Amino acid sequence: MALPKLSIASLGGTVSMQARTPGGGIIPTVNGATLLASVPELRTLANATVETLGLLPSASLDFEFLLSVLCWANYEIEQGAAGVVITQGTDNLEETAAFFDFLWSHDEPLVLTGAMRAATQAGADGPGNLLDACRVGVAEASRRRGVQVVMNGQIHPAQAVRKTDSMALQAFSSPNVGPAGLVLEEAVHYLRPPSPRNVLPLPQQTAQKVALLQASLSADTLLLENILRLGYDGLVIAGFGAGHLPETWANTIDAIARRIPVVIATRCGSGSTARATYGFVGGEMDLLRRGASMAGFMCPRKARILLWLLIGCQRQGQLARYLNEPAGFEA
Ligand code: ASP
Repeated sequence: MALPKLSIASLGGTVSMQARTPGGGIIPTVNGATLLASVPELRTLANATVETLGLLPSASLDFEFLLSVLCWANYEIEQGAAGVVITQGTDNLEETAAFFDFLWSHDEPLVLTGAMRAATQAGADGPGNLLDACRVGVAEASRRRGVQVVMNGQIHPAQAVRKTDSMALQAFSSPNVGPAGLVLEEAVHYLRPPSPRNVLPLPQQTAQKVALLQASLSADTLLLENILRLGYDGLVIAGFGAGHLPETWANTIDAIARRIPVVIATRCGSGSTARATYGFVGGEMDLLRRGASMAGFMCPRKARILLWLLIGCQRQGQLARYLNEPAGFEA
C-alpha cells in the first residue's frame, strides 16, 4: 500500500538549534533535511518531504511570514498531502498554532511541534516530538481537528494550548480542557471527538496594529491613554481575575471602545472572564457597559491574534461571535 504523503517544514527554534562556538549559546542552524534524517522510522510511516522555510528563533516570527508559511501548507494539501507538520520555536508556539487554526480550512491536519532541548543536547526531545507529530499528521483520526500542537507525547488543540513552563520538557498544557489526545506506543489516541470549527477568510490587509496591555497593581494609564494617538486599530487587555481593570483604566475605556475594538481577557492563565458577576467600577459588568468585549476562555495572546485577523478581513463587527464560539475551541 502506498504511504501517505506528508509535507514537513522547518522554521527554526530550539529543535533546529546548536552551538556554533563553545560558550556562544545555541542558535538555529539545523535545516529541515537534517531534522528529517534524525527520524529514520518515518520512512515506514509516510512519504515525507521537507522544506526549510526559516531558521529563526520564534521570537522573530511575524504575521506576514506566517501567512507565507500558510500559503505553502495550503499548496501542499492541494498537491495531495495527507497532512502537514511544521517545526518551530516553542516560545510562541501557542500563538502561531492559534493563528494557523483560525485560517486552516482543510480537513487534513496541520501539526506544529518543536523541542525544549537543542539538537545536540543530551536527551534531545526534537526527534521524538517530530516523529510523534508525523504520526498525528498522517492519522485518519486527526482529520477535521484543525491545527494541533504535539509535544512530549501529548496532542493539544491550538485554541487551548499554552506554554506553561519556560524550560521543562513538559512545557505545554491546555488549561480548562486538557490535551485532546496522546501518542502512546507509536499510536495516536484521541480522548474526545473533534469540535466544530469557524474558519476566517485570509486577511486582505496586514498593516493593522493590535496592542496587548496587561493590568497590574497600581499601573499608570500612560500607555492606555495614548493608544488611539499611537495609531492602534485594536486593543486587548489581560485583565485581573475574571476580566477586571483599575478604576483609572476603566474610565478611559469608553473613549477607546468608541473608536476601536477593546477586548478584556483574563491574565490568570486558566479560567474564563465573567459577564454578570462583579458590579464595581472596572469590573466586567462595568467594562461591558463601556463597550469592551470579554474574551471568555480565550487567552489574551490568542485574543490579540483573533482581533488582528478580524480587522484584517473587515469582520471586527463579528468579534463577539468569535469570542463566544472561538474556532476549534473545545470547552
Ligand atoms: N526556547 C525556544 C524554543 O523552545 C526558542 C524559540 O522559541 O525559538 O524553541
